[in-house]
Amino acid sequence: MTIAVEIDTGTLGFPRMGPNRELKFALEKYWRGAITQEQLNKIAVDVETQNWHTQVERGIQRIGVGMFSLYDHVLDWTLYLGCEPQRFTKLTSDVDRYFAMARGLDGIPALDMTKWFDSNYHYEVPELNVHTTPKANFKNFIDTIKRAQSTLGKNKAVPVILGPLTYLALAKYDDNTSIASMLPKLLPLYTLLINQLAALGVPEVQVHEPSLVGAHASKLLPHLVSVYGDNTTAGALTHPNVNLHIATYFEAIDDDVYKWFATSKIAALSLDFTRGDNLSVLQKFGFPSGKRLGVGIVDGRGVWKIAPSTITPILSSILEVISRNPNAALTIQPSSSLQHVPYTTKAEVDFQANLSSLYGVLSFAYEKLDEVKLISNIIKDGQLTNSTTAFQAANAAWATYYKENPAKQAVQTRVKSVTEADLKRPSDFATRRPHQMKSCPILPTTTIGSFPQTAQIRGLRRQLKLGKITQQAYEAQIDAQIAYNIGVQDALGLDILVHGEPERTDMVEFFAEKLNGFAFSQNGWVQSYGSRCVRPPVIYADLERPLDMTVREFKVAQGFSAYKPVKGMLTGPVTILNWSFPRLDITRKEQAYQLALCLRDEVAALEKAGCTIIQVDEPALREGMPLKLSKKDAYLRWAVDAFRLSTAVAANATSIHTHMCYCEFNDCMPSIDEIDADVNSIENARSGDETIRAFKSIGYKKDLGPGVYDIHSPVVPPKDEIIAKLESFLKLLPAKQLVVNPDCGLKTRRWPETIAALKNMVEAAHQVRSSL
Ligand code: GLN
Ligand code: ZN
Repeated sequence: MTIAVEIDTGTLGFPRMGPNRELKFALEKYWRGAITQEQLNKIAVDVETQNWHTQVERGIQRIGVGMFSLYDHVLDWTLYLGCEPQRFTKLTSDVDRYFAMARGLDGIPALDMTKWFDSNYHYEVPELNVHTTPKANFKNFIDTIKRAQSTLGKNKAVPVILGPLTYLALAKYDDNTSIASMLPKLLPLYTLLINQLAALGVPEVQVHEPSLVGAHASKLLPHLVSVYGDNTTAGALTHPNVNLHIATYFEAIDDDVYKWFATSKIAALSLDFTRGDNLSVLQKFGFPSGKRLGVGIVDGRGVWKIAPSTITPILSSILEVISRNPNAALTIQPSSSLQHVPYTTKAEVDFQANLSSLYGVLSFAYEKLDEVKLISNIIKDGQLTNSTTAFQAANAAWATYYKENPAKQAVQTRVKSVTEADLKRPSDFATRRPHQMKSCPILPTTTIGSFPQTAQIRGLRRQLKLGKITQQAYEAQIDAQIAYNIGVQDALGLDILVHGEPERTDMVEFFAEKLNGFAFSQNGWVQSYGSRCVRPPVIYADLERPLDMTVREFKVAQGFSAYKPVKGMLTGPVTILNWSFPRLDITRKEQAYQLALCLRDEVAALEKAGCTIIQVDEPALREGMPLKLSKKDAYLRWAVDAFRLSTAVAANATSIHTHMCYCEFNDCMPSIDEIDADVNSIENARSGDETIRAFKSIGYKKDLGPGVYDIHSPVVPPKDEIIAKLESFLKLLPAKQLVVNPDCGLKTRRWPETIAALKNMVEAAHQVRSSL
């Protein structure tokens, strides 16, 4: 049966920094006062306009417009909705208020930042309380839409708005405020906005509501009708001339939300067919007549070319469901905004020259647009036609890739032979603890690993990369820095020393560079937050550790300290995985295990070199957490096991430390104990004693190092403050369980404040120790 299925192409957002990070550099100049606001705006408009042109040129018909941002799209909506916390309202200029919320200003703390769902992008958390008085401030947004309409035409420029339910689900509240209490205040503003857009002749609005797929979905369900209406009632966003298109991504939509959609007057729904099982939802409930489905089939978060063998069956199944009704429309599109991937593989000349099999299967934003177009071209009359020919190039690229990068038998076999016993230390904590850290006093003092990275050190690494100095000369200078770091720590009287990580650029990149199976792009930047961009390494083959990674520097450091132990310093498997672009052809668990085995060998090598304390950092353990509650346990199981696989090889006398930061770990509490580290040095300084209480609540008996001061600020913490902190910790934990350390690594700090702060920390520990 052939049926008429209307097919077109769309996008949900695009990278924002510019192909050469033009916006990043402009922002940083603006903050330094080197360019004016007009100059900044001009660069931003140029980048945004070029993004639009690229999308048109590559055949995109419905171009999502409006999520471009100077800093963060959630922060944009805080400004549009007039939801700035009171401490910022004395700043009368929009731009000043905006950047003050993002970055703080003269003693006014910035908004909190946290992860955008399970991606590595961070948004500015709206702070809502009884004083929040939303008021419309849509001028900038409306101007952007007008600009887009005149550049792209009214049909191609599709305004993207952040849906009220997601905005509210992402916010934090005081005790007297909630989603339910804030929603009635926001809805009139959204109504106003839709009216303004309707007046511009906008035919369709893309409303992003990713919170409808996560753990919040059930909380939001009761509000759907007041916001979007149903088959009989109009909602606040309903307008007779504007088609509403609800965009979801990163997971499968909840059944109940889908059922509501099917009977509502919402014109279109976007689903992610690369994450979560949306196909089952479609197959279970069918797709309603007269509506359009946004088929998010090109992965907006991965860097890989489409794999025809994966997407063909999904497309066929979608078409099968769609063709059951006579009046169907599909938009082929990326699964999410493309802001999570770099601009274009064309910039990767190194890959082209030296890793062409990998280059052949990479796809960044521009290439993903081509894939969207390609897929839309092969759907005719509700059928997949000619797909073999269309996908020939992709299939050939994948075949070459697998030929050049075959599975490594030794790695695969080792992963498969991991047993329960490999995950277990020789004895339990109570038995092994008396054999560990024997030279340390009670309340031992230590740091999290890195010491200030000066311009000289960064220059040194650059010179090595450029081949301007020999490896030998480089190592000599690194060793001099290690000697200095050890000398400082010794003089300060710290008990457990670190080498200070001068040889590391970044805690993930450093290890990835030492392992076989990782590739590094030249220009593969993605926005992490604000102007900060990262270039995640790409896992492209089975992972192996050809040589020791950290043993040389450990030995050098320990050589400078006769009496005090130097702590070995590794990044954990889950963090390396979560901050890389993973492969899609094997599971994340398998990749974590491969990494774990590499780290396990490093732990053994460090031990052999005489290291008795080894820290394995897992700041990103929480970050890989799935959005659906039902999937959390499975993730935590393998994440915990990967950590244990890395460390359980250690003898009883070796103290395994870990460090976690960047977020609250309360919802993965028991797992934090199950990783079986002897010491957990966890970020805490900005909270009270909640972290310790959370640890206590699970009966945590191991050692704990809750950070005693915030390393994010150059302010030197007074000794008395640290004493007060330690005393408050001691009300909850016995002294023998407590380790004294800062919140995180010191690499972003300068030496003077570092020395002053650590001096106070050590003196505070001494004083508290003597009062025990
Ligand atoms: N050991 C690392 C450091 O001190 C830990 C960094 C982190 O937790 N982000 O820099
Ligand atoms: Zn940290």
